[in-house]
Amino acid sequence: MTDKRTQFVHTGYEMDPATQAVTPPIYRATTYHQADPWNPPVYDYARSGNPTRHAFEQAMADLEHGVKGFAFSSGMAALTAAFMLLSQGDHLIVTRDCQGGTQRVLRGVFSRFGIQVSYVDTEDFDALEKAVKPNTQAILVENFSNPFLHVTDMPRLAKWAHEHHLLVMVDNTFITPYLQNPLTLGADLVIHSATKMIGGHSDITAGVAVAKEEDLARRLYFIQNACGAILSPDDAYMSLRGLHTLPVRMDRAQDTAMQLATALVTHPQVQRVYYPGLKTHPGHEVAKQTMRGFGQMLTIRLKDARLVPELARHLRLARVGAGFGGTETIISLPELHCHAALTPEERYERQITPDVVRISVGLESAADLLHDILEALDKAGS
Ligand SMILES: *Cc1c(COP(=O)(O)O)cnc(C)c1O
Repeated sequence: MTDKRTQFVHTGYEMDPATQAVTPPIYRATTYHQADPWNPPVYDYARSGNPTRHAFEQAMADLEHGVKGFAFSSGMAALTAAFMLLSQGDHLIVTRDCQGGTQRVLRGVFSRFGIQVSYVDTEDFDALEKAVKPNTQAILVENFSNPFLHVTDMPRLAKWAHEHHLLVMVDNTFITPYLQNPLTLGADLVIHSATKMIGGHSDITAGVAVAKEEDLARRLYFIQNACGAILSPDDAYMSLRGLHTLPVRMDRAQDTAMQLATALVTHPQVQRVYYPGLKTHPGHEVAKQTMRGFGQMLTIRLKDARLVPELARHLRLARVGAGFGGTETIISLPELHCHAALTPEERYERQITPDVVRISVGLESAADLLHDILEALDKAGS
């Protein structure tokens, strides 16, 4: 079975072994009767293992081509578990243009435990080479980056990182397992906020990590069970449900995203469009060679920050707020939403200024959505 779209329907979880039901039952039990406590059953306590969560974990491991998946109560909980693989005194390299929450937890929590961090553009191999220190243990790549959708050449990066004996972790939330599988390109661990495209309907908070090899899986399982930020059975069910339609949603949304990006390039109120599908995007060729699509996220820089409130006010279909990957188009203002955790200086240094608008393209008809956004921009500029 080679077609990805088929794989998302027939994932690692096929049927309920007890009844042949085509979707998994939601097991809410927290404990299980042990007829022979000296030979405990597979499931004994809900934090340690749950069949519904396991179904989602199994599906993700299958889709990302890893040995095991681990589902967490949020994307941040999954990233936190990944950071807990590190020890005091370790140095970590992180994609510079990454989501604010990653920077918040590293700065506000892990710095107190002696984890050092350097933020580097992970598509720039000269900068990466300069950033490596004797105590560098790992690299976290966010691909595409947020909000400017830089593209990291994953096979090249993994090769480079392994030459330096680094653990390669990839936050694959933007690309999804449909468009790229970092583990097959050399990464060791892939992490998702399932709150976004995997859940796909703006109605669950979830995270997941998939390990390529047993040793890493064993260490991550220890952290999941010991620290306990597990995904609930109900949200595990919803995450699995979302996975099944991810390719259909992504195909539709990225088709619209390409049309929208193309239309915005020539709009008089738009200074710049950041979308990997555009030939003018610096990462276009790498994305074309290493990914199966360009995704549903795009970012624009308007000619004047004063246009932004006007744009927001005139939108009729698109919603304005944090988050992305839902069925509805969501317009985020990175300064107020995904990058609010940064200081104003950090945002300025990263060019996250009030004229930047990020768009998560949803499933509205392309014609309706283009009309909504282009008309709102026209009105904003008049
Ligand atoms: C949203 C997001 C996270 C955090 O996920 P939550 O589910 O909100 O905790 C992590 N990484 C990326 C790239 C994200 O977009």
